[in-house]
Amino acid sequence: MEAARVQRADIVFVGAGPVGLWTAIQAKKRNPQAQIQVYERYTEYQRSHVLRLEHFSMLLYGKKSKNPLEKRFYEEVTGKKLGTLSAAFSQAVGSVFIRTHDLEKALKSYAGALGINIAYEKIESPQDAMDLHPECRHFVAADGAHSNMRKMLLGENDKQEFPLQYVVEVKYQANGKAGQLDFSSENYKTNKLMQNMAFEYVGREKEGTTPVTLRFFTDKQTYDNLPQASFKQPLTLNDGRLPQRLSQDIQTYMSVRALKAGEEYREGSAKVSKLTLSLYAARKFAVNLLGKNKGQDRSWFFVGDAAMGVPYFRALNSGIIIGSQLGTILTRKWLSPKAKAMVFNAIRPLNIAWEFTAARGKNLGIKAYDKFRRASAEVPWEMVKWDDKEVQDFRALNHRAFRPGDEPQP
Ligand SMILES: Cc1cc2nc3c(=O)[nH]c(=O)nc-3n(C[C@H](O)[C@H](O)[C@H](O)COP(=O)(O)OP(=O)(O)OC[C@H]3O[C@@H](n4cnc5c(N)ncnc54)[C@H](O)[C@@H]3O)c2cc1C
Repeated sequence: MEAARVQRADIVFVGAGPVGLWTAIQAKKRNPQAQIQVYERYTEYQRSHVLRLEHFSMLLYGKKSKNPLEKRFYEEVTGKKLGTLSAAFSQAVGSVFIRTHDLEKALKSYAGALGINIAYEKIESPQDAMDLHPECRHFVAADGAHSNMRKMLLGENDKQEFPLQYVVEVKYQANGKAGQLDFSSENYKTNKLMQNMAFEYVGREKEGTTPVTLRFFTDKQTYDNLPQASFKQPLTLNDGRLPQRLSQDIQTYMSVRALKAGEEYREGSAKVSKLTLSLYAARKFAVNLLGKNKGQDRSWFFVGDAAMGVPYFRALNSGIIIGSQLGTILTRKWLSPKAKAMVFNAIRPLNIAWEFTAARGKNLGIKAYDKFRRASAEVPWEMVKWDDKEVQDFRALNHRAFRPGDEPQP
């Protein structure tokens, strides 16, 4: 699939993450004659987690055709068969959990089959891309949350950011198929035993293991007391620098999963990282670099995490929706690159308002739940709780992940 760069490109993308590829596909489907060149720095996609993909985003916003490739793509990704337009509405309900690797594979093979060119090269700067393609007038920065293109094109004050929650994430693998705690009883009862509220995300079993992610919502002080830990440079659960109460809560939650969901932890698989869930948006979604003559009329468009970030499983979905809109704008032949940038910027407040309002709403719901489970843990008449014997068993379990020697396996 790897290809050299094309001689003449109508649209150049920097970044072949899911949103970059999706947007390139949408543009190509709307204008099959367009030469699309995508640059990606890594041959293997670097993210590795499970995504919740809402059917709505892809099925309602993506351009449809009767192409069998498209049918195969949708079936691979959503697990649903594409039907008639009216059926598309009923199919659009619900969501699917998919591994980043599987989504990337499906997108790359679909993009390749449509004739989108992917070259594996790092683009150092917007000027670098424009020098490689002096003929091109449309450039798309889909280079992720830390987008260098955005920083270089918009300068210091490239985005606005609003922190919502401080989160400590524990990721590990379970042997075989792992179950989920029942949310309204088991998860709720467990949360009442803990200071830091937790949510769990259990992926699909593949090759004998199931990925599990536990997210602990913590206060800023606990978060700051935890040493820097990222997905690429994580801590282990037996690290003495983990704040004691947090460590105790993680142990409690994992013990409940072991005893109540029959989970068998895969040794050496636990990784701890911390992250702030925040809303952010680029100051602009597009910039025009109009030169002295019309031939230099070039626009840069930001999409995906390069444009905006929203927590609570919406980032990819909002990227797909905005990417579909951008695919339409990019292929309007009667609009100049400058006019396209204006149109894309003009719809930006709608995208931001919609996503930020939804994320803030979810955040308020999470805060209310946190207050409720704390209050209900205190009241003497509370009945929905683990009994004392069960609590003793959870506390007594010396979970493997916390014992010395449980280090990441190569
Ligand atoms: C743990 C975790 C869980 C998540 N879960 C969900 C979820 O359940 N649902 C959801 O909707 N979203 C979720 N998200 C968010 C989702 O993963 C992102 O929104 C999505 O990956 C963004 O896609 P993207 O294509 O914009 O950027 P990215 O996936 O970051 O891709 C950017 C690409 O650009 C490439 N690149 C960067 N710089 C250059 C350069 N200079 N030259 C060439 N290539 C370059 C990178 O190598 C990368 O491949 C989650 C994120 C994380 C971290």
